[in-house]
Amino acid sequence: MARKPRTADQRGGLDCDTIVAIATAPGIGAIGVVRISGPDAERIGRCLSDQSLRERRASLAAFNDASGQQIDQGLVLFFRQPRSFTGEDVVEFQGHGGPVVLDLLVQAAVTLGARLARPGEFTERAYLNGKLDLAQAEAVADLIESGSAAAARSAVRSLTGQFSARVETLAADILELRIFVEGAIDFPEDDVDFIGDGNASGRLERLIGRVNTILASATQGALLNEGITIVLAGRPNVGKSSLLNRLLGYERAIVSNTPGTTRDVLTERMDLGGIPLRIVDTAGLRESVDEIEREGVRRALAQISSADRVIVVREDGDWEPAQVLIQEQRLPTDRLTVVNNKIDISGTPPGAVRQHGRDEWRVSALTGAGIDGLVDHLKAAVGYRKDAGVFSARRRHLDALTRVAMVLQRGAAALTESGAGELLADDLRVAHAILGEIVGTVSSDALLGEIFSRFCIGK
Ligand code: GDP
Repeated sequence: MARKPRTADQRGGLDCDTIVAIATAPGIGAIGVVRISGPDAERIGRCLSDQSLRERRASLAAFNDASGQQIDQGLVLFFRQPRSFTGEDVVEFQGHGGPVVLDLLVQAAVTLGARLARPGEFTERAYLNGKLDLAQAEAVADLIESGSAAAARSAVRSLTGQFSARVETLAADILELRIFVEGAIDFPEDDVDFIGDGNASGRLERLIGRVNTILASATQGALLNEGITIVLAGRPNVGKSSLLNRLLGYERAIVSNTPGTTRDVLTERMDLGGIPLRIVDTAGLRESVDEIEREGVRRALAQISSADRVIVVREDGDWEPAQVLIQEQRLPTDRLTVVNNKIDISGTPPGAVRQHGRDEWRVSALTGAGIDGLVDHLKAAVGYRKDAGVFSARRRHLDALTRVAMVLQRGAAALTESGAGELLADDLRVAHAILGEIVGTVSSDALLGEIFSRFCIGK
């Protein structure tokens, strides 16, 4: 969904110079693309391409440097503003994909007055010129970097504006309710009894429901996008490494592995049915006088505190209760799954058991019994639902949506408890502003810098 171009003020002093970069991946390829965007793009493009620029047409041209010496030969495309990716004049050279050839072309453009683009600067200009909103711009990077087909599909949904559209409709409805509530405050004599007739609270309830629905979809998107971290804890020899191998074997899609020392944490990356998963084995946590081992314990505790889920492994039927381990190793009880391993020895049937107010899982890492159920449980525990309508999202978006839900709930409570329309009106104003952070109608230079600097150069 295209947005209104920003005013000069909103553009925060956007440079009006012309930028150039190689848009294709570094290295050798059949084709390489150099992209130029800005007010001088057409002039520079004409100088470099033998005058053969035709708007929205591909022309075969000789590519020359500033002194007229031929560098390459290929296709040149010209998009006149505003009908281009950045909203500015854009010229693209498709030449032979060798780094030297492409560098020569970039250098020639620089000699003619262009400047090397910063990472993400083309997309940043597209955002500042109202071609994309912020959530869509982020989806560009998410699509490029997507680690699975499901992640790519969700990024495309966000890129085409499906996420933004839901956020904006919600924002518009919040604004409408705010106008209604403020009207009731300003003109009490009009006898608009919005509390009494239940209209405001009913509308508020429905809005909260919608925020939660969007939050659920965005949570899926963020899972696909950013992945989750699961930490394995437990005493030595209970089968942590075996369980790790069993989980890795589950999808047979190890992306990379980074073994540390035996006393360090071991991290494996895998694709768990489309969710990028990082599993950390905290290798025999115990108090030690050994300096290196103490460092290992310190790192393990840091991993545990930031994990999305902690699995504590013990032997099924072990005399030592899980509670002892949980206290000793300071494991979080709100994100914990207890796995009772080696049921092939104890003879207990696999699956979930409710024990000591917790869900515990009985498995055998050796035979694989109970592992499928454990995997489903882990996916569900981190918030994964099989849902076709997921769009890509980031923690930043989840954080904003969570704050919106909290603020609306606070407004609803104020309304029921004290009939306080003023407080509700203010909460609606805040909720509306927070939603603006997602699509970028409200944004700071720091946030923009943070988002666009993570892009690759040429995007
Ligand atoms: P860790 O020290 O917790 O990582 O434990 P390991 O994965 O190295 O396993 C310790 C020992 O227990 C090894 O000999 C494994 O083969 C064995 N083991 C692990 N899981 C099972 C299981 O489910 N059943 C049986 N019978 N043995 C297991």
